[in-house]
Amino acid sequence: MNNQLSDLPNMNSLLEHPLLSGIGKERVKYSARIVLDELRDGFLSCGGALPSLDECAELVLNHIKLDRRNLRGVINATGVVLHTNLGRAPLGADAMAAAVEACAGYCNLEYDLADGQRGDRFAHVESLICELTGAEAAMVANNNAAAMVLALAALAKGKRVAVSRGELVEIGGSFRIPEIIAESGAELVEVGTTNKTRLADYKYAVENLGAEALLKVHTSNYEIIGFAESVPVEALARYGKSVGLPVIFDMGSCFLVDPERYGFRHGATAKSGIAAGADVVCFSGDKLAGSVQAGIVAGRYECIEKLKKHPLARALRPDKLTLSVLESTLRLCRYPDEAAARVPALAMLFADPESLRQRAEALARRLGAPLGAPLGAPLGAPLGAPLEGWGVEVRETMDEAGGGSLPAVALPGWAVALRPTGSMSANELESGLRRGSAPVIVRIHEDAVLLSVRTLMPADEERVAEAIREAASGASC
Ligand SMILES: *Cc1c(COP(=O)(O)O)cnc(C)c1O
Repeated sequence: MNNQLSDLPNMNSLLEHPLLSGIGKERVKYSARIVLDELRDGFLSCGGALPSLDECAELVLNHIKLDRRNLRGVINATGVVLHTNLGRAPLGADAMAAAVEACAGYCNLEYDLADGQRGDRFAHVESLICELTGAEAAMVANNNAAAMVLALAALAKGKRVAVSRGELVEIGGSFRIPEIIAESGAELVEVGTTNKTRLADYKYAVENLGAEALLKVHTSNYEIIGFAESVPVEALARYGKSVGLPVIFDMGSCFLVDPERYGFRHGATAKSGIAAGADVVCFSGDKLAGSVQAGIVAGRYECIEKLKKHPLARALRPDKLTLSVLESTLRLCRYPDEAAARVPALAMLFADPESLRQRAEALARRLGAPLGAPLGAPLGAPLGAPLEGWGVEVRETMDEAGGGSLPAVALPGWAVALRPTGSMSANELESGLRRGSAPVIVRIHEDAVLLSVRTLMPADEERVAEAIREAASGASC
């Protein structure tokens, strides 16, 4: 069949095609123009057959379906709770409701409703941060990196800042302490050695090298073990006070509720940093605090005032979305039991292994795992047909806090393991799950696909089971 260009279906016939009815004309026109242009260009350069009107409408429909958001929700089955590549802390219903209320219309971001005057955006969170940390004053920047830049610029610009050589860390995404100090207009004075730093080293830097500020950095993503010594923040704060120099403590990641109440024996609370006597403490909002990306700064009144008044504060300030979510998390953290249940990152971190085992078994059952097989314990009846080409079992696994939060800590958890018994490999299933319509991110261990249940959100299990069936059948490859 020899086509001519005039055989190409025209825009009007596509706009009226029944396959595309019910879709806004603007969208159909947008996609149809692109599809028709591509067909015309292809025909002019290579010739060949042109599609019929029906085929062409199908192409347009496919193009419209492909116009999905780039930034999409994914299901995190990695067991890494604060996965930086997957957006760190997931937000719960309380946080989302607060964001919708504040941001779907206007809000009192900088408006004092009591006296009808201009208000302060930090007022919505400051007293809550103070209540939870025991600090005199607080403010918030866009993230902890910004908080550090601001604290150093406001308190140590043009001054020498003493930092232990064991704490000159890179946090990832090229956040390096020496560079941050330089960018803030301060000058780094290195003290001690990589593995050992003593109080005498700081004293030497103050007395002989002109250090006028002291910085302590939590080495978030690694640990020095063995022949090592560092100065506890309490001792550094006491010394700073005795010589009248400010002590800044970059805690990186810390809790707003006491994790020990929930049997979780790792990680510090923000309160402990303030109680230790640091003048200024800063930490991320979306790590162990379990909220939105933010840099929370708490500390002595005079210090926080300097940060608030610094010109950089305007450039680094958070918006209403951030503040509404953060306020919601802070409010919940006043009632730790509620926070432990309703702040998703906390619920995931504090989850007890027995409940994780039960959830893993329930997921395995959805995938047709046979009764009682994996652990010798009764599993109940399978909820679905057996998964063709895969052995399904429930397995103990090691999860992680992630986000450079608790580097050397493994959290005992449970996973569903899928072992290939047919023609599809574990790598192919992983890729299929990742590219599916509801993307599922998994780990591969010893040629099995592992789905850790710790990081699944409450409604995820059913979607995961569907996504696995879809990917295992090769439908999304
Ligand atoms: C994570 C971290 C930062 C950076 O925090 P962001 O909120 O990601 O900007 C800075 N310092 C330490 C010690 C950290 O752990």
